[in-house]
Amino acid sequence: MKFANSELAFEKAKKFIPGGVNSPVRAFKAVGGNPVFIQSAKGAYIKDIDGNSYIELINSWGPMILGHAHELIQEAVVKALEQSPSFGGPTEREIQMAELITEMIPSIEKVRMVNSGTEATMACVRVARGYTGRSKIIKFEGCYHGHGDSFLISAGSGAVTLGVPDSPGVTQGVANDTLTAPFNDIEAVKKLVAANKNEIAALILEPVVGNMGCVAPKEGFLQELRKLCTEHKIVLIFDEVMTGFRLSKGGAQELYGVSPDMTTLGKIIGGGLPVGAYGGKREIMDMVAPAGPVYQAGTLSGNPLAMAAGLAMLNYLKGNPSVYTKINESAKQIVAGFEENHKELGLKYTINQVGSMFTLFFTDQPVRNFDDAKKSDTILFGKYFQGMLREGIYLAPSQYEALFISNSIGEQEIAKIVAAHKKVITTLK
Ligand SMILES: *Cc1c(COP(=O)(O)O)cnc(C)c1O
Repeated sequence: MKFANSELAFEKAKKFIPGGVNSPVRAFKAVGGNPVFIQSAKGAYIKDIDGNSYIELINSWGPMILGHAHELIQEAVVKALEQSPSFGGPTEREIQMAELITEMIPSIEKVRMVNSGTEATMACVRVARGYTGRSKIIKFEGCYHGHGDSFLISAGSGAVTLGVPDSPGVTQGVANDTLTAPFNDIEAVKKLVAANKNEIAALILEPVVGNMGCVAPKEGFLQELRKLCTEHKIVLIFDEVMTGFRLSKGGAQELYGVSPDMTTLGKIIGGGLPVGAYGGKREIMDMVAPAGPVYQAGTLSGNPLAMAAGLAMLNYLKGNPSVYTKINESAKQIVAGFEENHKELGLKYTINQVGSMFTLFFTDQPVRNFDDAKKSDTILFGKYFQGMLREGIYLAPSQYEALFISNSIGEQEIAKIVAAHKKVITTLK
């Protein structure tokens, strides 16, 4: 496999773009080598500018749940484009989108569209503070909620991959208002709540974590958080930017049967275009301008192309629940294949899977929180990543990420992924 064009592109990119990429997770810093530059993608396959083709397990970090360049979404965007890509006034597509979201996720009674997951989480916390009149928030170590200042305290995803879970540039004042607890540790949360009585505006979490690698909530954990937040009038925010429309058509909250007060959405909701959304109880959302005093705005929010892509995506998912059966089954088969390979080779590594998200951790210990995840051998992961890339499998270039299965992955791709895994893991032994 040759990477000459990507290498040249990366050299040039570094001259004009910090680190050569527009989002840190795209760099191969944690796994060594240069990122491959992408030319195009279709279905389950992605092609780089050297002509190498890979089976896709990043899928734009989640949005491409139907695989790349799905006809319905392409058509919807083209049709919207013909009517002009942006207006400064409201459109009917935005009403359709809001109605569809509230129908698919019943805990959301009103919703505001934004342009990214980061915008959604930042706005959500501001609204929760405005609503409660309190300042502090609780988040979990290793959870990632976008790059807003308040969230870059013990943050996951690219922040931990690059070793900056507490970013410079975040003021002490902001940091003081963010309290953190280990994921899955209800006692630690109870202690924080008790020590900060009537001061906590919101508790935000990924109900199933994707950004320290895939980590499921312990049985009863989400229910206990719900109870605690209700008791202490804390706004419970589920950050479902990753899990929304992925773990089920109603997200993790449908899967686990727990209703948050507010929800953030992104990724799949835009069908590949830059979109985010936040919503929740009517009473809370009516705090948002111009209905209420908490200011939040966006020149391109509810953008016609983005709404068209998102509507096509969500309508398809709503009408075809079999998508979830298929992608969950595909993930299960891949994980079973990996475990069989490990058994055959006498290896013991932890694999966490929830629905169509999964992570192979290079540790033999269970992974239930960020400290557990950090026990993984990241040097070994880097070698594994490089080996898989050369076998034509495009994995997220970090141990601390989840892989995503799309509806385009079929029996043939599953067989190839499992075979490549066996070949690569054998050489690492
Ligand atoms: C990706 C992600 C975000 C940030 O979304 P962006 O669109 O990258 O700003 C926030 N929260 C979670 C859980 C995410 O996975």
